[in-house]
Amino acid sequence: MATAGDRRQRLLVLVPCPYQGHLNPMLQLGAALQSTGSFSVTVAHTEFHFPNQSNHPQFDFLPVADSLSDADTSSRSFISTILKLNFNCKTSFQQSLTRLREQTDCQDEIACIIYDSLMYFAEEVARELKVPCIIFRACSAANTLTYNEYPRLQEEGFIPLLDSKPLELVPRLHPLRFKDLPIYKFEGLEKLLLLLKRSNEIGTSVAFVLNTIECLEQSPLMKLRQEYPVPFFTIGPLNKIAPPLSSSLIEEDESCIAWLNKQAKNSTLYVSLGSIVSINEKELIEMAWGLANCEHPFLWVVRPGLVHGSEAIDLLPDGFAEIVGERGRVIKWAPQQKVLAHESVGAFWSHCGWNSSLESISEGVPMICTPCFGDQRVNARYLSHVWRVGLSLEDMERGEIERAIKKLMASNEGEIVRQRMTDLKHEVMHSIKEGGSSYNSLHELVKYINAL
Ligand code: UDP
Repeated sequence: MATAGDRRQRLLVLVPCPYQGHLNPMLQLGAALQSTGSFSVTVAHTEFHFPNQSNHPQFDFLPVADSLSDADTSSRSFISTILKLNFNCKTSFQQSLTRLREQTDCQDEIACIIYDSLMYFAEEVARELKVPCIIFRACSAANTLTYNEYPRLQEEGFIPLLDSKPLELVPRLHPLRFKDLPIYKFEGLEKLLLLLKRSNEIGTSVAFVLNTIECLEQSPLMKLRQEYPVPFFTIGPLNKIAPPLSSSLIEEDESCIAWLNKQAKNSTLYVSLGSIVSINEKELIEMAWGLANCEHPFLWVVRPGLVHGSEAIDLLPDGFAEIVGERGRVIKWAPQQKVLAHESVGAFWSHCGWNSSLESISEGVPMICTPCFGDQRVNARYLSHVWRVGLSLEDMERGEIERAIKKLMASNEGEIVRQRMTDLKHEVMHSIKEGGSSYNSLHELVKYINAL
């Protein structure tokens, strides 16, 4: 493989979707590709959620004007914001890229654009500028498959989904039930279907990159490969393949590591619902009392906005802090990968975002699965029923919460789940070692891009 010393580096332009769960794996992919010595990396990013460049001196950044209003940026509608970004950013991205090409000498020509599937405007620009492009999906293969099924399910009369069907298996998508589908009971169905349709069209993209692992998703990957006539590169878990990098949009509270150092091995429950989920005040209070009553140490991320329009931490119930004392720690944002790697962390109660799921698997931490929307339901179904490394917790009710925590952390059944997660971790981590599937895939991708 060429190194920076013996060959001029070619330029990769990354176009992440500006949300935490999309930004993290895209920057990890950029760092992984850069670490092979073949490429320099420029991150074309919207003004919205623009990352802290000083955390990423290895990358160049190309701001993309997004024309979002204050109302847009404070909107809770992920789907509307993504649709607007696609509409607003095409021209500005094209202009920024044209300027970049004019500044760049021809030896540093753009090798390709790698864009998040939700940022499909990048494919249109790549096509017009005749630059090769590659599509990156930040979700699982199983979830990607569901998107392709929607039009068929619609034709067959299953969509809009019927209330009578939640527990029935979805044709062609076993083991998913209708209630596990990303858009089950979703509002704004039309907009969502439009977004899914556009983000699943590969257009002129020459390849697919997924943050997944062959051994984890053999069957969905096989089906996806039948559906798309382009090469697939499965390069996961990216959080373990890339050199460590911090792309948090909220400041990480590192003080929790000193607190974790004081806890016994495998004793502590880590709790986080990720960067977008919001719950209501009643659910927050049920979570608080479930944690208070379970008697295990816990580290709980209560992010500003977890309860919409509030700091959330201010809404914790009276008496909670006194009852919990030193046994519990509540923070606004965690250095999650360090937390999951800490030996005192024995379980993760999660919303099952794809990054959180992979991060937990790659540290061998068994999970309690409380999916809230979108692909989280697909991930939760696989975690609890296919890989069987997590327990499902559907109701945010204090008694149910307490029971689930005790079951995972202090019962024979929990021990079996923990052992399965340890086995899965070893299998997954094998894939990133020399000769493993993800290792090979990364190096094949480098060759593939160099040959474009
Ligand atoms: N994360 C973090 N600190 C936290 C909570 C989350 O660094 O306190 C990171 C986490 O490690 C993951 C990302 O934020 O990489 C969340 O992505 P995920 O796909 O799990 O969920 P989303 O936020 O997209 O719903």
